[in-house]
Amino acid sequence: MAGVSGSAPAVTVRIVAVGDELLEGRTSDTNSTRIQRALGSHAVAVRDIAVVHDRLGDVAAALDRTRPGDIVFVCGGLGSTGDDITREAIAAWADVALEWRQDVAERLAAEYARRGIVRSLEGDKQPLLPAGCEPVDNPLGTAPGLVGELRGRRVAVLPGVPQELEAMLPGTLAALQRQGALPTARPTRLWRLAQMAELAVAHLTEPVRERYRDLHWSWWLVDWGVDLRLGAGPDRADELEAAAAELDALLDDLVYAREMIDLPRVVQDHMLVRGTTLAVAESCTGGMVGAAITGQDGSSGYFRGGVVSYADRIKVDRAGVDPATLAAHGAVSRPVAEEMAQGVRARFGADYALAVTGIAGPGGGTPDKPVGTTWIALAGSDALVAGRYRFSGDRERNRRLATMAALDMVRRALVGAPIVDADRLTWGVPE
Ligand code: ATP
Ligand code: MG
Repeated sequence: MAGVSGSAPAVTVRIVAVGDELLEGRTSDTNSTRIQRALGSHAVAVRDIAVVHDRLGDVAAALDRTRPGDIVFVCGGLGSTGDDITREAIAAWADVALEWRQDVAERLAAEYARRGIVRSLEGDKQPLLPAGCEPVDNPLGTAPGLVGELRGRRVAVLPGVPQELEAMLPGTLAALQRQGALPTARPTRLWRLAQMAELAVAHLTEPVRERYRDLHWSWWLVDWGVDLRLGAGPDRADELEAAAAELDALLDDLVYAREMIDLPRVVQDHMLVRGTTLAVAESCTGGMVGAAITGQDGSSGYFRGGVVSYADRIKVDRAGVDPATLAAHGAVSRPVAEEMAQGVRARFGADYALAVTGIAGPGGGTPDKPVGTTWIALAGSDALVAGRYRFSGDRERNRRLATMAALDMVRRALVGAPIVDADRLTWGVPE
């Protein structure tokens, strides 16, 4: 998280991530981050995160370091294989029995049947829950989670598979709240910003943050830019409203969503509402823009398709770029980006077409066009716009940022915002 301020929260949260792979460099512990994010609007403080091996003694030692009154999240090692020992470790630490839960067993049997898996439940550890705990449904997998009070701590246990953990967090937090352990969520507001770095968000919002120091501010990097969240205690709802109004005015067209929707979905919604179609010509992104677009259910309603015109000859043959333009300006240039966009727009019969051409690096840079230099163009029926960007990441990040900037260019064009706003958009470069 890039920044946090505001009044001190009350309940202490500790996280124990269980898994040999987390300590052997095979997997990064992203689950703790997911848990922290899910807790974002609740008045709690995450005090520490322990990463431990799949060993009874190591899990117990981590639990010993928690205190009565804490909320303790444990993730990983809930499966039915022999190396998954989290359930046993927690029961042993709390000195309670593992009880066979018939309701969980029946749900498991139904899930196996649904997937066509022939498996006896005999010897299956998943219906075994430490006494006094309630199961939390796992909509994506088989191992249920659990929530219960053990040795004065409120313990919530989740599986290690990140998608399953993510899907189960709402149910887990709801169970904790029902049990009176988790403070109700603070009222919060969210702004999702593309094409902005964390530091730019910090600078831009500083004056407002100065005026509303008692609100809880946080912002962090996400797949599609930076999320800014503002939270308030129950007695500060008016302040929250006032600050939110100031932020709305300040951030304005920088905001692509005010709720948890990703940028490709926002673009899709804009296109579908207008009944317009889109095609793409991609060079340095090699299909990432098309992949992001088609990752959305319903994209066939507006997306025509695209070409990955990576080699110069393909830019000419398949995207309709004039060889003379390439010779005069080079592949990474405004004229080539514009001709790529116009070319695929005509060939695909689309209302709009996006083109991306850039130097992803680490090789290929020149003093004139350093690594990260990228031209993005958008052609429409009566408009042709283009922007130059200077991304400063590694190859992967530069391609990712180019994909984001391209999608955001469509959004900005459709809402009538300036395409290149070098003062406000982090990577835009004036010509
Ligand atoms: P399963 O039913 O699949 O066995 P499980 O609860 O036993 O579930 P694990 O076996 O511990 O989960 O982990 C399953 C997968 O989730 C592994 O690929 C592992 O790398 C990943 N994983 C585990 N813990 C974390 C974590 N803290 N952060 C990110 N990924 C994790
Ligand atoms: Mg494991």
